[in-house]
Amino acid sequence: MSDAAARAGALLTIDLDAIVANWRLLAARLRPGVRAAAVVKADAYGVGAARVAPALYEGGCRRFFVATLDEGIGLRAAMPEGEIIVFGGPLADTEEDYPAHGLIPVLNTPGQVALWAGLARRMGRRLPAVVHFDTGLSRLGLARDELAALAEDRDALAALDLLLVMSHLACADEPAHDLNPLQRRRFEAGRALFSGVPGSLAASSGIFLGAEWHADWVRPGAALYGVNPQPGAPNPMAQVLQLQGRILQVREIDAGESVGYGATHRARARMRLAVVAAGYADGLPRSLSNRGCAMLGGTRLPLVGRVSMDLMVFDVTGLPEGAARPGVFIDLIGPGVTLDDVAGAAGTIGYEILTALGRRYHRTYRGGTSHGGPGG
Ligand SMILES: *Cc1c(COP(=O)(O)O)cnc(C)c1O
Repeated sequence: MSDAAARAGALLTIDLDAIVANWRLLAARLRPGVRAAAVVKADAYGVGAARVAPALYEGGCRRFFVATLDEGIGLRAAMPEGEIIVFGGPLADTEEDYPAHGLIPVLNTPGQVALWAGLARRMGRRLPAVVHFDTGLSRLGLARDELAALAEDRDALAALDLLLVMSHLACADEPAHDLNPLQRRRFEAGRALFSGVPGSLAASSGIFLGAEWHADWVRPGAALYGVNPQPGAPNPMAQVLQLQGRILQVREIDAGESVGYGATHRARARMRLAVVAAGYADGLPRSLSNRGCAMLGGTRLPLVGRVSMDLMVFDVTGLPEGAARPGVFIDLIGPGVTLDDVAGAAGTIGYEILTALGRRYHRTYRGGTSHGGPGG
C-alpha cells in the first residue's frame, strides 16, 4: 500500500512553532500584567485544536476559548490541563456537562446566568463563569441593563465565581472607526460594576488598537494562525500554513480555445496549463475563479477558468519548459501567496479560508510537542 502523502492531491503543512511564536509575539505587545488567552474554536480555525492547544500550553498559554460545548469536550480529551472556556454558554439540560469535563461557560443571557447559578446551588459550591455583555456588536452578551441587574443580584453572585467580565469589538480591524471608543467607554462602565473581576475586550485586531484596549486578558484567535490583524498594514504575524497542490496533467492549448466550465477563460495565444488536484470541495472558494494564483519557484501562476470541485487550472506558460510536470507540487498557500492573498482574491477574509480548509489534504504538523495525534 502506498503512503497517504503519495496518494494525496494536496499537502497541508501546519507549523505549530509558528503558532506558538505568534502567541508570544502578541503577549509581548501587551501592557505589563496583561495576559493572553488563545481562541481555538472551530477546531483552531480549521488548523487542528487537538494539536494547536497542547503546543500553546507547552508554550505557556493557560486559558483557551472554544465556541461550543462539544468543542470543549473534544479539546479537554486532548489537553488534560489548562482552562477551557466555552463562548456559547450552557444550553438547557447541558449545564452538568461543564463540570463533568472541566469546562467553564461564558454566560451570555439572564437565562444562562440562572441556569448556571441553579447548578451551583444544587452542587453546593460556587461555580466559575465568565460574564459577557454587549457594548455595540449586538451579538451575544447581556444587555447593559441586564448586566447592571446582575451586579445587584446577590443570590446569583453568591453562586458564581466570576473569572472575567468580557465584551467583544465590532470594528477593531478599522482603527479609526467611531464604534471603537464608544464600545470601550461602555466596556469600562460595565466592568466597573464588578470590582475586582478581571476584564477582557480585545481579540486579535483589538490588541493592535493600543494598550488602553488590553484590559486584563486578551483573546486572540486569527492572528495566531497568521491572519493579518491590521488589514492594510504589513503583517507582523508568522505564516503558519503551507498548502501545496499536486499537478496531475500539463497540456498546451491553442489560441481561441477555452478553459474550464462555462468557458470563462479564452486563450489569446498558445498557452501551457497545469491541472492541479484541489478544488472547492477542498475549501478553495469558487470565487477564486480567474482571480487566484499559485507560486512555483518564485513565478506567479494565474488561476485560469473556474475552480471546479476537485481541480483547478493554472497558466504555467511563464515557467521554463519542464518545470511544471505531473507530480510537481505548486504552492496554493505559502510564502509567495499568503492566506490573506488567497482571501483577498476570493473576496473574503482569511478566517473563512482557514475554517474551510478541506478534509482531503494530507496534513503534517511541524514543531510543537512530541506527544499528540497523527500527522506528527
Ligand atoms: C472568535 C472570537 C475571538 C477571537 O477573534 P479573532 O478576531 O479571531 O482574534 C475573541 N472573542 C470572541 C467573543 C470571539 O467570538
